[in-house]
Amino acid sequence: MRSITCHCDQHFMADIPDVINLDSNPEYYASIQDNTFLTCICPACNAELRLDLETRIEWVSKNATVIMLPEIERLAYLGDIKTVPDGISVVFGYAELCDRLAVIKDELDCLSIEAIKYHLATKASEGGSTPNLEILYNGINDRQELVFHIYGLKENEMAVTRVPLTLYNTIREDVRSNPGNSLYAGLQNKMYISCKNILIEDTAHD
Ligand SMILES: [Zn+2]
Repeated sequence: MRSITCHCDQHFMADIPDVINLDSNPEYYASIQDNTFLTCICPACNAELRLDLETRIEWVSKNATVIMLPEIERLAYLGDIKTVPDGISVVFGYAELCDRLAVIKDELDCLSIEAIKYHLATKASEGGSTPNLEILYNGINDRQELVFHIYGLKENEMAVTRVPLTLYNTIREDVRSNPGNSLYAGLQNKMYISCKNILIEDTAHD
């Protein structure tokens, strides 16, 4: 149970777990991806609330444990104010959780995926400044291409980019052979692996 406060100031308890196990409860995968997990209705004003609450996802069969921290805790975690137990991957906010679980489900290497996103972001930014760029992994299509959704190029529009699985495999091999490469090292900040570790830095220095 979670304690929730609505915009209307109503306090109530919602039956939303703070730890889920995707091996024993695989149905949660679909509810996360269709945006029904962490959503509830306020009993006072009937508003549909999208909650940004710390949640741990255990997926032993995929050798993965992920913790989703609220977006508001990004700086606290990166600044060592908020800590997370060792060995747990960190994502911030619901969109990053959906992205990371899709990567884990497809048994891809998240560092390699973030390296691809970094290249896609760099290419997308050539046409001008894109401070709100968000690139999310969506899945593998039947032509063996990795599908990425790109937000923030144009207001309220999503672009789709496909990357051949063969290119992913090349990058995966490069990550294995050159773990100390400055790009791959820069993508990782403690247990948070994301192209944003570099892209946000770049934006801050513009
Ligand atoms: Zn309410």
